[in-house]
Parts: sequence; C-alpha cells; structure tokens
Amino acid sequence: MSKVVTILGSTGSIGTQALDVVDMQGYEVLALTANSCVDKMENQIRKYKPKYAALVDEKAAGELKVKVSDTGTKILSGMDGVCECASLSADYVLNSIVGMAGLEPTISVLNAGNKLALANKETLVTGGKIVTELAKEKGIKILPVDSEHSAIFQSLQGCRNFSEVKRLILTASGGPFFGKKKSELADITVEQALNHPNWSMGAKITIDSATMMNKGLELIEAVWLFDMKPDNIDIVVHRQSVVHSLVEYCDNSVIAQLGVPDMRIPIQYALTYPDRIPSPVKQLSLTDYGTLTFDKPDYETFGLINVCRAAINEGGLKPACANAANEEANLAFRQGKIKFTQIEELVRSAVELACQKSDYTLSDIHDACKWASDFVKSKI
Ligand code: NAD
Ligand code: MG
Repeated sequence: MSKVVTILGSTGSIGTQALDVVDMQGYEVLALTANSCVDKMENQIRKYKPKYAALVDEKAAGELKVKVSDTGTKILSGMDGVCECASLSADYVLNSIVGMAGLEPTISVLNAGNKLALANKETLVTGGKIVTELAKEKGIKILPVDSEHSAIFQSLQGCRNFSEVKRLILTASGGPFFGKKKSELADITVEQALNHPNWSMGAKITIDSATMMNKGLELIEAVWLFDMKPDNIDIVVHRQSVVHSLVEYCDNSVIAQLGVPDMRIPIQYALTYPDRIPSPVKQLSLTDYGTLTFDKPDYETFGLINVCRAAINEGGLKPACANAANEEANLAFRQGKIKFTQIEELVRSAVELACQKSDYTLSDIHDACKWASDFVKSKI
C-alpha cells in the first residue's frame, strides 16, 4: 500500500537509507529536511519530488530555492521550516536528525497528530518526559528506529501484559576500542575513532559508539520508550551485532531479534508496523558467523555508560545535561580541539555540576542544555 512519508534529516546516514526503503516500497515523499547540504537536497528533490523541503541554514535554503525553482517543491528555511514540514499531515514522519536539534521537530510531529518513527535518540534523552507524555495524550505510539530499541519493540510483539517483562538487555558492539584499557585511549585519533567495526553511520554517533556514550544514551532512550526502570535494563557487549537486543520475561524466557547489521530492517519495520514486508537486506546466515560472543562492558574504560545511568537514575534535567555536554565534547574531539578521553571527563563534570530540577518545562531543558554546552566550551 502506498504511504505518504516525511523524512527529517533526509541527507544523513539514516535519512538516505530510509529513502532506499521509500524507493523499494514506492512510497510518496511529502517533505524532506536537512541542515545545510544544498547539493544533496537538490538531488533528493529532483528524484522524490516532495511538496516541501527545508534547510535549517538560511543562506543554504536561499541557494537551494534558486537551484530548484524549476520544480514544484516549496523551499522553507530555519528550524521553523523544519517544524512546519514535521507538522504536515503524513502517514509517517521519520525523525533522523542528529542531536538535540531533533527535539522541537519531534514535538511538532506529535502536536500535529502524525505517527512518529524515531531515530533521533537525543529527543528522548533530553525531552523524554515531555515527549512521552505528549505522545500518550495524543494517542500516538512512538515507533523506534534505533536497532536495539526496534529489537526490543519487535521482541515485545507477543506480549499482552507488560508486567510480565522483567528485564531489557541492550546489546552493544563495543566499538573500535573493545578490549583496550583507559591508558591506551589517550592518543586515539579521530580517524581511529571513526572506524566502526560493524556499522556505517554519521560521524557523531560513530564517536558516541567509540566512547560507548551511545549505549548510555540508548539506556535512557529505553527507559522512556518502554517505561522501564534503569535498574531493569542491562547492557551486554556482543561484538558481531547480530543479536540486536533482548527481552527477558518473568518466567526467565528470553526473546531476541536477530538479523545482519543493516539499519534498513528497523527503518522499514517502523514504517510498516504492524506489518512486515520483504526487504532487500541480506538474509542472516548463523553458520557464516559460527560463534556469537557476549561480554560484560568494561565500565572502567568506558565510564560514560555509568555517567548516563547515574543521570537517568537522578532524573530531572541531568540526562539533558549529559547529552548536551556530550554533543559539545564529541564535536570538539572531531575538530581536534580535545583528546578522546576528555570527552568523558567533560561530560562527567557537566553532569555533576549541573543544576537540578525535578519538575521542569521545555524551556528549563533548553536552559540546562545551554548551560552544559557553555560549560564544556569554557573548558576547551
Ligand atoms: P547524520 O549526521 O548522518 O545525519 C543527520 C541529518 O540531520 C542530516 O540530514 C543533517 O542535515 C541533519 N541535521 C544535522 N544537524 C541538524 C540541525 N541542527 N537541525 C536540523 N537538521 C540537522 O546522522 P545519522 O547517523 O543519520 O543519525 C541520525 C540520528 O539517528 C541520530 O540521532 C543517531 O543517533 C540515530 N541513529 C543512527 C544510526 C545510524 O546507523 N546512522 C543508528 C541508530 C540511531
Ligand atoms: Mg543503536
């Protein structure tokens, strides 16, 4: 059945893979958004003929408008333009923006009553309480795209009573530095950190995978998506990225979702839920792998997992601060301004020193994130 979809962050790693799914299924594209990539967006407009497209960067949007003036696509600009695209009535809106910039568009998707396929984990890490309450109020199920959360969502499909669920187990690839000790990480280069063993992803999440901050963010994401206590969410390192995550039930039965590491499976499932349809993703051959391994995370070396665990246990504004500090430190590392190990130090200090509020609004979240970003900038 043809569906009308909008993709926020269409020029990125998830966005372009989502367009692969769109190609295969023959979906109609209503709107596309990105930050500033004029050429990529021009190509997407010519191919998918969306009614609307938006670039956050005003100058880039101006350039794009001239380039595609021969098409029927209306070009919008700024965050307002992105949120306008998010609000247009579609069958599904996929949010694959990177970073907490995705929060406002998520809120626009939900306020408009659109179904939300969510790849942007930072939405839930920064605004989990507000976003999940809004989704509930609007009667909208958030469809997870992050592979671990999609795996849990899929493993929950036979579950009629959520109180039967005892524990969620998130798998982690361990990233490029699995097995290394902290002392070996001091002189890691950006190039080494960008070399992920199993997944090809955007730069920010690839660095988050190397520090394992990604797993900390995913722990918080799981708390909000599945209304689960942090203590009932475990993390296990699984180097092959074949078992994408698991659900343990009260009878100690464990249900997992497996597949080759290819994001087009979770993207497609979010866009076709509750149905499954064929996909071009390679079949899983367990005998090709032969051995699947499972290890405890090294919390000493990859301390950011527990920084995130402490932040969500404390709750309030701490997870948002952890996320904002990480976004700033992650960027500074990619720009060569700080060492790899400083990412953890800076995020840890920001979370410890951040002001706390248990009852908070969206504007408190923005203030807390700004404080954490400024704190990290002041230390660089
Ligand atoms: P990416 O950097 O490849 O793409 C990001 C997209 O967001 C681009 O289209 C970019 O133009 C847009 N964007 C960047 N900054 C923006 C801003 N300030 N405002 C609006 N749009 C902006 O990132 P990605 O790897 O595709 O990741 C996207 C999201 O999906 C992240 O939250 C990431 O954690 C999550 N995710 C990604 C993967 C993966 O395999 N890449 C897997 C799981 C989850
Ligand atoms: Mg993931």
